[in-house]
Amino acid sequence: MPALLDPVLDLLTVRGTVTEAEQVTARMRRLRIEGEQLAGLEVRPGQQVRVLVGGLALRTYSIWHYDPSGGVDLCVLDHEAGGPGAQWGRTVAPGEQVRLRRPEGTFTLRPDAARHLFVGDETASVAFGAMLTALPGEAVVSGCVETATAADRLPLAGGDRLDWILRGETSLPDAVRRLAPEPGGIAYVAGEAREVQAVRRVLVQEAGWDRRAVLTKPFWTPGKKGMD
Ligand SMILES: Cc1cc2nc3c(=O)[nH]c(=O)nc-3n(C[C@H](O)[C@H](O)[C@H](O)COP(=O)(O)OP(=O)(O)OC[C@H]3O[C@@H](n4cnc5c(N)ncnc54)[C@H](O)[C@@H]3O)c2cc1C
Repeated sequence: MPALLDPVLDLLTVRGTVTEAEQVTARMRRLRIEGEQLAGLEVRPGQQVRVLVGGLALRTYSIWHYDPSGGVDLCVLDHEAGGPGAQWGRTVAPGEQVRLRRPEGTFTLRPDAARHLFVGDETASVAFGAMLTALPGEAVVSGCVETATAADRLPLAGGDRLDWILRGETSLPDAVRRLAPEPGGIAYVAGEAREVQAVRRVLVQEAGWDRRAVLTKPFWTPGKKGMD
């Protein structure tokens, strides 16, 4: 990256160093990024950061874990279509420098909700993990998470309260129909854009949920690069 861009990038991003890289599922690596500028930030469960990956490409990743002393953990999927983000997640090694934007986003836990419903795919499960970790043990939780294989399931706090389905065997909209969640809580729906819309329709049009109680966030869709 040209050094003359550094002052601009210093305004827009914070710097960190990758300190840990660990395979957490068959296709996902957990990356820990540490740096002084990452200390003391306000991070809400479900928020994301945008990371400069390869040259000037920005890619968005949910914060799996935040350590206020100056560390963020991300989990990056090595999806089959590839792209600068997947390539970075697969190859970045401890010791490498990284620039990222400060945490942002409104797809976040609503801690006061009476019930919490999580629906999404392996990509969305990173944000779900952060939200579930922040919930008290007595919180009422349900949901459906779709993955390509059983080896793609992230270990989520309270993940045994979710229905885990395999892509191709059923669909998320059908899994939600089967679960038949009663309106009255908050639904967090994320993942592939068209699937997110289909699940939202099931909740609002078939199950009678108030549309304001269904939080949606498209994380990716075929053919679109660098969604955020
Ligand atoms: C708010 C938010 C939070 C996100 N959190 C995470 C996270 O925690 N972990 C994570 O891995 N990703 C996360 N994503 C998705 C991530 O930003 C995209 O997957 C990213 O664009 C991939 O970058 P890429 O350069 O590899 O592919 P791109 O160049 O962006 O895309 C190329 C093609 O790859 C395919 N593709 C892209 N992403 C995926 C995917 N996730 N699954 C299957 N196919 C895909 C599409 O066909 C796309 O057209 C998040 C996205 C958003 C908006």
